[in-house]
Amino acid sequence: MIRNSRQRDAIRAAIANAGRPLLPQEIHKLAQQTAPKLGIATVYRNLQALQETGEINQVMIPGDSPRFELAQQPHHHHFKCTQCGEVTTLYACPGKLAELAPEGYQMHSHELTLYGYCGECADT
Ligand SMILES: [Zn+2]
Ligand SMILES: [Zn+2]
Repeated sequence: MIRNSRQRDAIRAAIANAGRPLLPQEIHKLAQQTAPKLGIATVYRNLQALQETGEINQVMIPGDSPRFELAQQPHHHHFKCTQCGEVTTLYACPGKLAELAPEGYQMHSHELTLYGYCGECADT
């Protein structure tokens, strides 16, 4: 099982070092730098296991495949580049969104995704 845990460490490190939500294919490519024999099926299996242990979260952007990020993070949102598809983490929040809820409703959480161009795509 040593080989398996090394592969899981590579997957975990790829997600942690990215600092933004990654697609399984991106995780695969990054983790292969430290675990060259890593297969995509193993990536999927470990993503499942890491979700079950609560180490990572699934990030769903409507219309996209699930991405994955570390679970232990402060409140944050995401920015998606509609040109290259990169999703970045934003640690800013407009707050006070509960004020938008209709009279008598109680908001308990919110999700927010910004769309536009990343720095690289905005330049071109
Ligand atoms: Zn971009
Ligand atoms: Zn927020």
